[in-house]
Amino acid sequence: MPITQQSEMEVYESFLKEQLVPVACLVDEEGFYPESIMRGLGKLGAFQFSKLNEKEALLKRLKLIEMSAKYCVSTSFLIWCHTTSISFIINSNNSYLKEKLLPLMENGQLLGGTGLSNAMKYYAGMEDIRLNAKKVEGGYSINGVAPFVSNLGPGHWFGVIAQVNKEQRIFAMINCDLPEIKMKEHKDFTGMNGTRSYTCRFNDVFIPNEYIISDSADQFIPKIRQSFVLSQAGMGLGLVQACIDNMLKVVDKQNKTNQFIGISPSEILEQLYALQQKAYLLSENFTKNNFISSVQVRLEAAELALKTAEIAFLYQGAAGYYRKSDCMRRLREALFIAIVTPAIKHLKRILMENNVTSC
Ligand SMILES: Cc1cc2nc3c(=O)[nH]c(=O)nc-3n(C[C@H](O)[C@H](O)[C@H](O)COP(=O)(O)OP(=O)(O)OC[C@H]3O[C@@H](n4cnc5c(N)ncnc54)[C@H](O)[C@@H]3O)c2cc1C
Repeated sequence: MPITQQSEMEVYESFLKEQLVPVACLVDEEGFYPESIMRGLGKLGAFQFSKLNEKEALLKRLKLIEMSAKYCVSTSFLIWCHTTSISFIINSNNSYLKEKLLPLMENGQLLGGTGLSNAMKYYAGMEDIRLNAKKVEGGYSINGVAPFVSNLGPGHWFGVIAQVNKEQRIFAMINCDLPEIKMKEHKDFTGMNGTRSYTCRFNDVFIPNEYIISDSADQFIPKIRQSFVLSQAGMGLGLVQACIDNMLKVVDKQNKTNQFIGISPSEILEQLYALQQKAYLLSENFTKNNFISSVQVRLEAAELALKTAEIAFLYQGAAGYYRKSDCMRRLREALFIAIVTPAIKHLKRILMENNVTSC
């Protein structure tokens, strides 16, 4: 009997409760990479998207990212990285990658990431492209740097955009094992340390035609950018729910003094439900023309996450001021959601330039 999406999510959630909850602090602070959890989710079918239609795939991805963020935003971000790299292949016309790579990525045997933050900023008019590509026999040669790419390691893959000339940029999948790529891990973040985030330096890296997602990244980007942005909102939604749960634990503390902070868990819960409905509706009614609405939801999720993490901290008081407290981790995670590409400043720029006022 086919399992419904609801029961499918329940299976993933009980797996995460058992496997992820005990190690969430280690992931955030100590740099523990939750590899077995990522591979385990793959085995359970969490990354199977190619048999779903676009709307079903986006909704499943959003809910998976949201649900995991309740326990650990680092792992939720890793799931976003991996599922985003899967979306690159699914949306391409590359039959080689679809046959050879996609099934292994969908079952978690191979893991992937996305090195697109510089390109996303390029398309928003914020900076120049930092990877350059030269057409050579059988493919392209790439030089330059991708300063932050997460969910990498031996055997992993990630997507990048490199500039051939002013008119042409290519989109390629890159294998981390290529010897010409020099990878240096970032180990001293304030949180999110188990995300296996690297600076990747490309020195004449040959990329065969088989690994090219598109010879025109400019035309390909509109196919993936909306789900790229909307699925990230899941990190904010899950984090807000976790912060509300923390507030509820101490709501009556000190003769109900927390009510004088001026906002109750139920008020935030209302805002969360409203935003959740917007995000789900956008996924269910997915069209590639809904980019601006997705940018708004992503921005609202980042702002609600920042606000709620701070309020949950105020509710907790000094107990939350310990470095290892859950409230402190949630603050670090909320700050990450606010600055990861597209960051709040980037999202606001897009909205302003499209004459949309942000919330
Ligand atoms: C924990 C963590 C994980 C991340 N994972 C990813 C990921 O998987 N994929 C991804 O694409 N981005 C990732 N990023 C990067 C993130 O999305 C932002 O792009 C990054 O935080 C910088 O954004 P900013 O706007 O603050 O730019 P700024 O920090 O102000 O930097 C401006 C630009 O300078 C360049 N730059 C900065 N540092 C370097 C450097 N060391 N070498 C060369 N150029 C540099 C970059 O192009 C950057 O966009 C991650 C960041 C963090 C903190």
